[in-house]
Amino acid sequence: MSVAGPVTGWASEALEGIAADGLTRHLEPLESAQGPTVDIAGRRYVNFSSNDYLGLAADLDVVAGARTTAMRHGFGSGASRLIVGDSLVHQALEAALAKHFNAASALLFNSGYQANVGVLSTLAGEGDVVFSDALNHASIVDGCRLSRARVVIYPHCDVAALERLLGSTPARRKLIISDAVFSMDGDRAPLLELERLARAHGAGLVVDEAHAVGVLGPTGGGLCEELGVAPDVRVGTLGKALGGFGAFVLASKPVRGWLINQARSLIFSTSLPASTCGAALAALQRMATLPSLRERLWRNIHQFSDGLRQLGYPAHRDSAIFSVIVGRPERALQLSQQLREQGILAKPIRPPTVPAGTSRLRFALSAAHTTDQVRRALSSLSPGRGEGWGEGKISAP
Ligand SMILES: *Cc1c(COP(=O)(O)O)cnc(C)c1O
Repeated sequence: MSVAGPVTGWASEALEGIAADGLTRHLEPLESAQGPTVDIAGRRYVNFSSNDYLGLAADLDVVAGARTTAMRHGFGSGASRLIVGDSLVHQALEAALAKHFNAASALLFNSGYQANVGVLSTLAGEGDVVFSDALNHASIVDGCRLSRARVVIYPHCDVAALERLLGSTPARRKLIISDAVFSMDGDRAPLLELERLARAHGAGLVVDEAHAVGVLGPTGGGLCEELGVAPDVRVGTLGKALGGFGAFVLASKPVRGWLINQARSLIFSTSLPASTCGAALAALQRMATLPSLRERLWRNIHQFSDGLRQLGYPAHRDSAIFSVIVGRPERALQLSQQLREQGILAKPIRPPTVPAGTSRLRFALSAAHTTDQVRRALSSLSPGRGEGWGEGKISAP
């Protein structure tokens, strides 16, 4: 039993402050599987808030990969990877990932969050400097903090500013880290330039491909594959386009060994269930053998991007993520609610996920969306369709 002691008082106080800022968050359970439509509280919505870019989260081959592995290996992994939580399935998945992504080695982590925290706190330490894009994901921010290195935040995608900072900051070692595709705006990092700067300054380069894996590159290998960039470390997640759970780090064998020996988020956490790895093997197979999934995703991206432009929003064609920035958090909530009344789910994104003043509706497209579903999302954004869309500034990425 828990008590309503002082902590409950602290909680009430904190929640009041959050509510006063219009930033209260709630959990909302799905009554259906993850997919292009989802059921919430008895109502069906077209879902534009999932990162299930290839529609693999409920793919029957992926589910079967989990089930057959669980029947053979049981469910729980019982211990951390280094104790007795490793298995042939974990090893097979790492070999398959290294092969698909053309890397010397792959190492699994329990999530992208844990991968970034583990990588940064291993690769950087006291006396080092990490150069981190201003819009990098929160897991990178937290990894930087844990590393005890000095963190220099450079303006978003500003190569010239980064070049100056690299030149003027003395350090034992320098590490550059960037998202490949930025999770809230959907734009791409200038990876060719980051690679050039890293080489010129003897810095290491880490690229987080969370929203690029499965979406970009001829085989879904991400933005690095698309541009032919070879950073020291790539981080990818199994939870987005690969429709499952967990993450992986692609690097040279010595870097893999360093992480195994030093990454605390790997060492001190129970390993992924083998069935999760079985699901990921099946998802990787689907991604590798079905380029049609990526083609369908890109057809939807183009349809949505063209439609946004016709509505007068400037829209990119960089990735599957589109944000309609509306400013105040209350406004994002209100507009999201209006879309819901039309059967469209685009969850509001508010600080601290995005900078203050840039609350937004974020749309993520999937290969599983139909042309008609994409059309419905666009029509819900038409000026005049929802109460008040005409008011205020609506700018897209
Ligand atoms: C989602 C995300 C992560 C975290 O990955 P999980 O596997 O969901 O923990 C890391 N980096 C970026 C850029 C992300 O968008």
